[in-house]
Amino acid sequence: MDKSCALGIDLGATDIKAALVDRTGKILRRDAQPTRAELGPDAVIDRIVELIDRLRTGAPSLQSKGGGPKRANGSEHPTHKPDIVAVGIGAPGPLSPSRGIVFKAANLPKWRNVALRDRIAERIGLPVVMENDANAAAYGEYRHANDKSLQDLVLLTLGSGIGAGTILGGRIFHGHFENASEWGHMIVEPNGRPCTCGQLGCLERYASAGAIARTIVAQIERGQSSSLAGCVRAGEAVTSVDVAAAAQAGDALAQTVWDEACRYLAVACINIQHAVNPQSILLGGGMSAAGDFLLNPVRRHTEAMRWKLHDDHPDIALAQLGNDAGTIGAALLAWDSLDT
Ligand SMILES: [Zn+2]
Repeated sequence: MDKSCALGIDLGATDIKAALVDRTGKILRRDAQPTRAELGPDAVIDRIVELIDRLRTGAPSLQSKGGGPKRANGSEHPTHKPDIVAVGIGAPGPLSPSRGIVFKAANLPKWRNVALRDRIAERIGLPVVMENDANAAAYGEYRHANDKSLQDLVLLTLGSGIGAGTILGGRIFHGHFENASEWGHMIVEPNGRPCTCGQLGCLERYASAGAIARTIVAQIERGQSSSLAGCVRAGEAVTSVDVAAAAQAGDALAQTVWDEACRYLAVACINIQHAVNPQSILLGGGMSAAGDFLLNPVRRHTEAMRWKLHDDHPDIALAQLGNDAGTIGAALLAWDSLDT
């Protein structure tokens, strides 16, 4: 590998993902390792540094051993040490990107006011920037779109919860307290389902992949019939992908649960439109694997519910980068930091 690159890290509750990324946003190499979040922040920081060192030294990816996951591109086996110019970290919030501190993270136990950015920088001796993980992913999608006419977009990442990032005027929108655009925690049902954040009725309790799975399991346990009842009775995990497949195969309960989630997403799209007026709202994360089966009902419900005062409505579309959005966005933010 003979060109300079930035290293993007996506710190998740289950895995730490990393990628070497060139200035254009192309991934040159990926690696990952389990977060082991239960060990607490010091151990997780050690594991991030280990991963960075592995990529810095050109050591073989642990993922590529023993028939690990197949890489999406073929450039995974560098023979030279890469020239890493900076590191970008996407971390779960709430956090302060400007101060590099993670205040708290729902899925990372014992994380309280952890100075993640500076602790990593001290260990590796490279410039480090830190950003909210969903903001980094939104920035990755924005840069990937590579469309000068598209400067204002929102990304909703539909996974176990709903991560969200907002790009306005080509820049991440942080807000005064630096935790803007937590769209997953917009309240869509006053006094609704309790959320891990302490509020009641958050969007992610109704429209995330996790919520869909929990909803159908609860309904089956209450006696409703479904093709997924056997899985539930056997104690097998049901995912939103299973629900989408059952719905597409004609399962009436799965269709109802899926459609209800899409209706809440439509509510979110309309509220986002009124809050920040983006040109585009992108749907990403595990649920977006359903493709048009997700997109079409969200668009249909949005069309039915939205205001009639004006015709300029955001385009609702599928995100493009999948699991790479976070590492690419974090690495591009690291590149940007060198230019300022
Ligand atoms: Zn919440």
